[in-house]
Amino acid sequence: MSKTVAIRGTFLDFIDDPWHHVGAEEKAARFFADGLLVIEDGRIKAFGAYKDLSARYAGVETSHLIHRLILPGFIDGHIHVPQTRILGAFGRQLLGWLQFSVFPEELKYKDRSYAQEGTRRFFDNLLAAGTTTCQAFTCTFPVATDVFFEEASRRNLRVIGGLTGIDRNAPPEFMDSAENFYCDSKRLIGQYHKQGRNLYAITPRFAAGASSALLSASSRLLKEHPDCWVNTHVSENPSEIRTVRTEYPECDDYLGVYEKYDLVGPRFSGGHGIWLSNDEFARLSRLGAAVVFCPLSNLFLGSGLFRLGRATDPACRVRIAFGTDMGGGNRFSMINVLDDAYKVGMCNNTRLDGSVDPTFQDTAEAERNKLSPYRAFWSITLGGAEALYLDDNLGNFDEGKEADFVVLDWNGGPPATAWHQSLVAENGGPQTLGQAAELLFGIMMVGDDRAVAETWVMGQRLYKRN
Ligand SMILES: [Zn+2]
Repeated sequence: MSKTVAIRGTFLDFIDDPWHHVGAEEKAARFFADGLLVIEDGRIKAFGAYKDLSARYAGVETSHLIHRLILPGFIDGHIHVPQTRILGAFGRQLLGWLQFSVFPEELKYKDRSYAQEGTRRFFDNLLAAGTTTCQAFTCTFPVATDVFFEEASRRNLRVIGGLTGIDRNAPPEFMDSAENFYCDSKRLIGQYHKQGRNLYAITPRFAAGASSALLSASSRLLKEHPDCWVNTHVSENPSEIRTVRTEYPECDDYLGVYEKYDLVGPRFSGGHGIWLSNDEFARLSRLGAAVVFCPLSNLFLGSGLFRLGRATDPACRVRIAFGTDMGGGNRFSMINVLDDAYKVGMCNNTRLDGSVDPTFQDTAEAERNKLSPYRAFWSITLGGAEALYLDDNLGNFDEGKEADFVVLDWNGGPPATAWHQSLVAENGGPQTLGQAAELLFGIMMVGDDRAVAETWVMGQRLYKRN
């Protein structure tokens, strides 16, 4: 028998890309000060103004969430499950950090019970941050990927993940052969891909850690399973990029390595993309592939400043998801991601060394760098879903989509937050879309993940803040 429930409250979601509406971004959003979301068996059956829908659904059990702003669940496009315990490691950039902090911890995920504990904590943290979907890296050992999908299934979360292959530039005990990567990935795809809400990503860790054999194995897997995702890293750190150029001298640039193995297309995403050339951005755009912008990590590891304004150039728009890259990112929260993303945008391509990118002379690009609350929250909901080709099921409150959402308390954060937010929401809550957007900007810049009051997945509440 089907089960129908409803949520009454203040809702905001997106129906279009705000970068398409410069000067009128509110056209991309949808707002109901008093709205109703009707959910049948975990999917959205109806969404609209309470006054329009309440009579039709009068008999339905309804939760009324007052003094809250309800958005679609956040989507984290790039995160590492086995780094849950080592986020916030002091003092090294990417390659040193991998050797000294990451590989030793990820090695522990060979052990099923350790992997289970780490993965449980991983999902607890995600839900507490309002993130209902992630695209995740696991590690070299297949059991960690089994545990990831088992735990996601137990919570009925929509996730993308995959065995994370590395066969170069790591300690011998941490690497595995291309052949094992192929066989183990094949088994895992058969077991988990499209089972329940699980989706599989063929995941060579990064070109600097992948031999030609490992990338060929990835290519073969994709040919055999063309409906899988492909997840990796691209152009993150200057030393890493030099390594890739040395290992693949026949390729013109970093993206060219993945192109050589036919991995770049729809459902491909590369984390970071900080140092991508204009030509690489144009190729990503043409191929329908995505970059995942991870500002927490890019600043924490000192990797550089992503060119958001370039990636959103309407002449060659690249699909962009946002991600924490936890533990390269030092938080689980997509709200913290927006905080840092805004600041990266404001730097207007001033490099970390103080020089200015010579290609950056375009004031339109500077304008596109600015992360308004519309652009910000679109990017971690519908925009992320579109970038990762999940928007048939996720991203907004359209009828038929899966009912994953986050319930925000705009006063959540340090004590200064509530007084700041009272500039807008003195009389109980936002009455207009403009007010809601101002509150959202306050949440991302003045509040923090304490703004997440509740997280719901397929119409069920899985997290409530104490
Ligand atoms: Zn990463």
